[in-house]
Amino acid sequence: MINLHTHTVRCGHARGTDREYIEAAIAAGYKEIGFSDHSFLNLQQYPAGIFRPDEENAKDYVQSIRALREEYKDRITIHLGMEMEYVAKCYDEMLAYYKDLGIEYFILGQHIAYTDEGGYTYAGMPSESLKSMDRYIDDCLEAMSRGVFTYLAHPDLFKYMGDRNIYRERMAAFIEKLVAENVQLEYNRLGFYEHRNYPDPVFWELVSEAHADVCVALDAHSPDVYTDTETVKRMHESLEELGLRHRDPTIIRL
Ligand SMILES: [Zn+2]
Ligand SMILES: [Zn+2]
Repeated sequence: MINLHTHTVRCGHARGTDREYIEAAIAAGYKEIGFSDHSFLNLQQYPAGIFRPDEENAKDYVQSIRALREEYKDRITIHLGMEMEYVAKCYDEMLAYYKDLGIEYFILGQHIAYTDEGGYTYAGMPSESLKSMDRYIDDCLEAMSRGVFTYLAHPDLFKYMGDRNIYRERMAAFIEKLVAENVQLEYNRLGFYEHRNYPDPVFWELVSEAHADVCVALDAHSPDVYTDTETVKRMHESLEELGLRHRDPTIIRL
């Protein structure tokens, strides 16, 4: 059992110390975990194509996780990663920066959606824009084709409020392409637990039909998520009902 999706307080919307996450993971029986905090970027500038990391936060993150990894090495294996958005213009700079900083793996969390007015918003906000959903799909596919992201987190994050038949048609094509690229799709505990728009039942029905590669991840924003084994059990049951198998992800190292 492995979970590569763990946040820290540094992202601004998670709780607990880094140590508490590790202690909780050990208590829950995990032998291997990964921290994958949100990239430390100034989102006001990032989607426009300017890469501006919050250097102080990023360095503190790396130092802290490395020190704890050493301290806990006999009890648990800890990986140091990051949950990244993909913006083509920033990609090379972003990759070089995080590699240099010591980040070892990326998962793709495409939280950015572009609005028809030329701005951008959180991809989990209700949207009726087909153009915006298509852009989300294209960005995810382009990102994963880079071969750098270990897996695609909450692939069904985009909250399309339009025609469900169109949603089904777009997502079927999306999943078909992801499967062709051997992309692993994450069944996300945060959305499952909070009854968000993801995991979307239509999306996961299609995942099942396509026999896609699936993993389960906690997307932990507080340490107690690790010890809530009941929810993970329900997630496994739900995947079973869908006829879906899941496997631990294989880390793609940067
Ligand atoms: Zn995310
Ligand atoms: Zn996350």
